[in-house]
Amino acid sequence: MHAFLSFLAGLMVVLPCCIARAQEPFLTQPQWQALRDEASGAAAYENLRVLATLHRVPSMPEFDQAAEFVLGRARAYGLEDAHAEQYAIDGKVRYGLMLSHLAWQVEEASLWELAPDAMPLGDWATNPIRLADYSHSADVRAPLVDVGAGTEQTDYLGKDVRGKIVLADGVLSTVQRLAVVEHGASGVVSAMPNQTTAWSGLDTTIVRWGHLDPRLTTGFAFMVSRGTATALRAQLAAGHTVLLKAHVKASMQPGHWTVITGTIPGTDPHAGEVVYSCHLDHQRPGANDNASGCVSTLESARVLSTLIHSGKLARPARTIRFIWGPEVEGTMAFLSQHPDIRQELRADVHMDMVGGDPFKDKSILHVTETPWSLPTFVTDVGDLFAETIRAAAATYAEDGSGADAAVLETRNGGSGTRNEFLVDETSYAEGSDHDDYDSSTIAVPSLYLRDWPDIYIHTDHDTLEQIDPTKLRRAVLLGAAAGYTYASLGQQRAEPLLSFFAARSEARLAAGFERAQKLADDRSLQAGDAWYEARNVMVHALAREQAELEAFATYTQSRPSGLASFHRALQAQAETLEGMLATLAAARGATGAVPLAPWRAESDAALVPARVGAFGPLTYQNDDVLLDRLGPERMRNITLLGGRSSRLVRVQDKGALYAYEIVNFVNGQRSLGQIRDAVAAEFGPIPLAAVSDYLKACQEAGVITFR
Ligand SMILES: [Zn+2]
Repeated sequence: MHAFLSFLAGLMVVLPCCIARAQEPFLTQPQWQALRDEASGAAAYENLRVLATLHRVPSMPEFDQAAEFVLGRARAYGLEDAHAEQYAIDGKVRYGLMLSHLAWQVEEASLWELAPDAMPLGDWATNPIRLADYSHSADVRAPLVDVGAGTEQTDYLGKDVRGKIVLADGVLSTVQRLAVVEHGASGVVSAMPNQTTAWSGLDTTIVRWGHLDPRLTTGFAFMVSRGTATALRAQLAAGHTVLLKAHVKASMQPGHWTVITGTIPGTDPHAGEVVYSCHLDHQRPGANDNASGCVSTLESARVLSTLIHSGKLARPARTIRFIWGPEVEGTMAFLSQHPDIRQELRADVHMDMVGGDPFKDKSILHVTETPWSLPTFVTDVGDLFAETIRAAAATYAEDGSGADAAVLETRNGGSGTRNEFLVDETSYAEGSDHDDYDSSTIAVPSLYLRDWPDIYIHTDHDTLEQIDPTKLRRAVLLGAAAGYTYASLGQQRAEPLLSFFAARSEARLAAGFERAQKLADDRSLQAGDAWYEARNVMVHALAREQAELEAFATYTQSRPSGLASFHRALQAQAETLEGMLATLAAARGATGAVPLAPWRAESDAALVPARVGAFGPLTYQNDDVLLDRLGPERMRNITLLGGRSSRLVRVQDKGALYAYEIVNFVNGQRSLGQIRDAVAAEFGPIPLAAVSDYLKACQEAGVITFR
């Protein structure tokens, strides 16, 4: 070893103690160690093994079996008032703004190819993922017709699909509407691809989970692999008639969703609650999505309950609540039936996909920020804990030291890896129950922990094989430590903690300036407009950081004496940076003392929208408020949403992100111009007309009114 390296190696000996203290200032070393030692990836993995055997479609008996299992564990782990709640669904009852749909039940389903080959293509009894959700009863022998994507009228030109089965790879609900409802096909065979990643299409054996539209009353779909679809296409292209026999015995009728909940009561009934959320539904096996989040939530419950009951951790002031239910739908049902609890919720720990082995499913665990409409300190707490584990795991992976701090799961027969902890912090991303918690009419900031990408999401390959007990143990420690911190934070510790958040705010403001500089130099914008957009980023970045510090003071019901001086420091930093932007703008030829809004001449800019009606965001798992109320034709004419992308395929749809935040920024005070500027700062410049056009559609749908 090189002399310098051996000197470094000597330093390494003292490193683990420094890393081990990195969880401060929120938890002491004994608290962190108690949480770490109690957290078991093996226990979580064993629970996951059970959930992954169930096809967990909400409203189906196997979902209720999963719920029953979780309830039994919740009781065994010492949660109080652990119980199941059932919510009626019938296509008419609403939970908040969200409309329920009928419950889907299946008795049997199979698909056979009769000619030219005779072979089974899918059987509900042995592999339920083969039947798309919300398939209707059918008994047909019919030839197969290839319609390509099947999502455009042109896909059907010159093809007679009436009474036949179409082979189509486009978004299933669109294919159902066109092929079945409009053109009279009896059903669909689909190899609709998985969510797009760099690895998409490489493995042709994957079968994806599919969904028809629960509001449509006809049609069925069987899901096949890309390999099977290619073989069927080759038969058709060679001029063979492919004869299929499809049998489905299913029904749509009133039913229920089941939600499990339980608590660890806090010491102060007026201090509010911290909630843990995760979705219990999804196809079998659904190991990472989302058996992993459910068992990590269960294990967080066990760890916290055990340590609090034994006195190793002091009972926090706030009650800790745990909820397991159908994604988004269970959350909306629970929050709508318990307005009292909804008012009490202060922070959410949301785990949706947290157990993937990064070298198998290519996942990175993301600590996800709340949207800018909901500034919060909760992300910073989670990020600090994630960084604590990440640093220790990296040290261990590199030189084998500090195994305890690295949080491995190699105990009790657990077969966890020694992998590094691939974790980072990202901006807000859509796609799970946190969309509800973070939305403006609920406004409970979420620590959203999510693996992405996951090349096996929503497929039959999302199996136990991809799950790493070490990763589960780390997620449990991260989740339990964050939730305990949120539940315990109070007035006494507000003062010393404020400087931690202020330092993070200053760093983010500086990062915002990098983005602003690029905008100031953006040659696709006129010099004056570029200056406006750049300065707009700084204005909103500053407002966001000051609001984060305020949110912390409100949360801890404190008025830290440092608050005013940190506000001033952030303000001064922003002013300096804005001055630098003015210099850049002047060099590009911009004139005037301040830049002028590009939308200043537009009359809509002064309109002030306000929310009316029930609570909740505008899109849900199986319900889209604008689509329901305005229809598909009107939807296509909404500038922001007119694209052909589907939220099910492209999780990160920029138009959908803008739409979500525009509604969140509506508060009866901000003008349309101000809302435009807020989302422009967050996601990038956007024409005022696109914001105005979207909010007018919301007005037509009866969820917005203009003042
Ligand atoms: Zn999920």
